[in-house]
Amino acid sequence: MAKLYFRYGLGKSAQLCQVAYNYFEQRNMEIAVINAKDNETIRSRIVVDGKNVLVREPNFDLKPGVSLYEKIYLRDSDVGLKCILVDNAEYLKEEQAEDLFYISKMLDIPVIAYGNRLIDEKKTSLGVCRLMALADDIEKIDMSMPSKRATLDFNYGAMNCSKTAQLLTKDQSLIDEGFKTCIIKPKLDRDELYIASRIGLRKKADIILDLDDNIYGQAEYLYRDRINHILVDEAQFLTPRQIEQLRRIVNDYNMPISCYGLKSDFLSNLFPGSQRLLEISDNIYKMNTVCSCGCGANFNVRKDRFDNYVTEGEQVCIDQGDNYDSECALCFMEHVMKIDTASRKRVRKK
Ligand SMILES: [Zn+2]
Repeated sequence: MAKLYFRYGLGKSAQLCQVAYNYFEQRNMEIAVINAKDNETIRSRIVVDGKNVLVREPNFDLKPGVSLYEKIYLRDSDVGLKCILVDNAEYLKEEQAEDLFYISKMLDIPVIAYGNRLIDEKKTSLGVCRLMALADDIEKIDMSMPSKRATLDFNYGAMNCSKTAQLLTKDQSLIDEGFKTCIIKPKLDRDELYIASRIGLRKKADIILDLDDNIYGQAEYLYRDRINHILVDEAQFLTPRQIEQLRRIVNDYNMPISCYGLKSDFLSNLFPGSQRLLEISDNIYKMNTVCSCGCGANFNVRKDRFDNYVTEGEQVCIDQGDNYDSECALCFMEHVMKIDTASRKRVRKK
């Protein structure tokens, strides 16, 4: 199945123009080029002799109230599209971001959306949040040299991708190298003191964070205690405010922080903590896991005790008896969104 990519960082428009050229001019493949910001001409900032050298005219207009899926479907039936390229994705509406997901999965056309994670470096973009929740891959295209500054990293994956095992492995290798680590976890979890992976790894957390706790307030102690690296388990359950506090610890104390957690809930909505991490972390890494059908799994599902898929309810459920699992996009669409994916390529309207 075709992928939906979200790419952020410096040099987005230049890469888009380059990719468009490779598809269309070099290989004669039909593509749709969209600029979500007012359908403007796409210009990279690369200037030679006072002229923008990489410029591309969109060949596809976004209109409010007109279904993007429907329009792409018609164009695809007409000419056969090989790729959809989108610039300034932070200006997409939520439903347009969803349409891009459906286009990649139902019409099997790869979609590459370039954009910023925030609007004007501050404001949340609901379109990009939806895009990041549904994207197969979130990629940073910044080609700048890695700096020596500490970073805030978000390692995300679906259920059963061995997040906790990877956290504990990272913890151990840091300790082996002579670093002093601090493991933080949110209070929400059942087994309060320990973080434990299913394969039996287990370690006591150093700090348990309640919803109202301010972790930045403890940074001075951690610094004096010569902590070199902070690891956060179940980071999706931290509040956006606590994620911002972690950001400040990285910036003010130059202390690296690695967060591990889920990206989205059982209905494919971002957890508030994960959303903030996706918006303001330095690096985003995906941990892979596999759906029972064999494809890569990006989505989480919840099943009740009778093995029925749960399709509504609270984001965080302490109910016993429910099971969580991970599934690929197509299985998720079929089981949770109740979309008949067998009719792919022939579906005119979702
Ligand atoms: Zn599957």
